[in-house]
Amino acid sequence: MNIQTPAAAKTADANEPRPTRDEAEAAVRTLLRWAGDNPNREGLIDTPSRVVRSYREFFCGYDEDPAEMLARSFEETDGYDEMVLLRDIRLESHCEHHMVPIIGRAHIAYLPAGRVVGISKLARVMELYARRLQIQEKLTAQIANTINDVLQPLGVAVVIEAAHQCMTTRGVHKPGVAMITSRMLGAFRDNPSTRREFLAMVGAPRAGGFEG
Ligand SMILES: [Zn+2]
Repeated sequence: MNIQTPAAAKTADANEPRPTRDEAEAAVRTLLRWAGDNPNREGLIDTPSRVVRSYREFFCGYDEDPAEMLARSFEETDGYDEMVLLRDIRLESHCEHHMVPIIGRAHIAYLPAGRVVGISKLARVMELYARRLQIQEKLTAQIANTINDVLQPLGVAVVIEAAHQCMTTRGVHKPGVAMITSRMLGAFRDNPSTRREFLAMVGAPRAGGFEG
């Protein structure tokens, strides 16, 4: 059992070292051949290196620990105790079952108890988890739990509305369908008026509109 592992190793299989870039590019060439195309034709010759560079970007969330990032950035406040809400944060992730995009928006709120962070840091927590292979339920819970653990606020609420391209471009082909997940902790779960205030500020979920 791993008790202490560096941040980058937490999500990786400790027994399997990370493949080299050449190995990753060879894997892309295999997929191109498997799809029925010729990886050596002119239009595809640079595709493996482009795909690998894209994957570095899509999955860069494995290289940083969101809890550590947030722990470095909080500030003590002078008693500010109203809700802080970041609404309509553009969300781009990839589903761990099909490795295709999940595109949507997130709303993140917390009720401070002495500690606040810059709003960009809330979006950054979301991004570090989103830039990993995900399912929406886990992503929602991870964002809420991390903010809760590090800031120890009176409550945290996270709502994510997203379209899954594994549902819109393949399989059941249902464009315009949004999946909505939420995680409410502390006052957002226990206090109906806090919950109502949050939901009123976030507004009714909008169907579709983010098949980007
Ligand atoms: Zn999927």
